[in-house]
Amino acid sequence: MFRWCCNAIFHPIHHTPATMTGAAMEDALASFATHERFMSVAIEEARLAAEAGDVPIGAVVVHDGRIVGRGRNQVEVLNDPTAHAEILALGAAAAGIGDWRLDACTLYSTLEPCTMCSGAILLARPRLIVYGTRDPRAGAVSSTARLLEQNPYNLDFEVVEGILASECAGLLKEFFGRLRRGDVERPGGDKGR
Ligand SMILES: [Zn+2]
Repeated sequence: MFRWCCNAIFHPIHHTPATMTGAAMEDALASFATHERFMSVAIEEARLAAEAGDVPIGAVVVHDGRIVGRGRNQVEVLNDPTAHAEILALGAAAAGIGDWRLDACTLYSTLEPCTMCSGAILLARPRLIVYGTRDPRAGAVSSTARLLEQNPYNLDFEVVEGILASECAGLLKEFFGRLRRGDVERPGGDKGR
């Protein structure tokens, strides 16, 4: 089952035989207040990224109602093209719970995951993905591709988008505005995510 939830509107767009775990289903039915609470933490991570000169994108992984992994975009700080918020949060969560299989977890990200991060999601298997705002340029969940919808692993995912979307997008807009004005000191130059 792949179900799509855009802000307060629950809109099923694709169905496969339902094999979703109970925990994932519970997560899917969690209140938007809960989503907003965890997205707020992801936004905190995004702010930290901006303070360090990286594009403000943050992510957290939640298991059993508590945060088990956090990440923020650190491409510039670490000079690592793979240091996206979601990748770092998934890695931290696997280390935190002692299992790379994150089936019962939820991934929150301020921005729609890219191709690389969608690949990591397929491998780590958090069945509920919640993101703030779409990325028309590189998003691979809904914008440029739908990599989670029909995947080679035959895994079921649910996606919720639009949680605190204006805050998530506003951070990016504000950052790129400062970048254009030359108000951002970036450790690795002026390119990157
Ligand atoms: Zn990414």
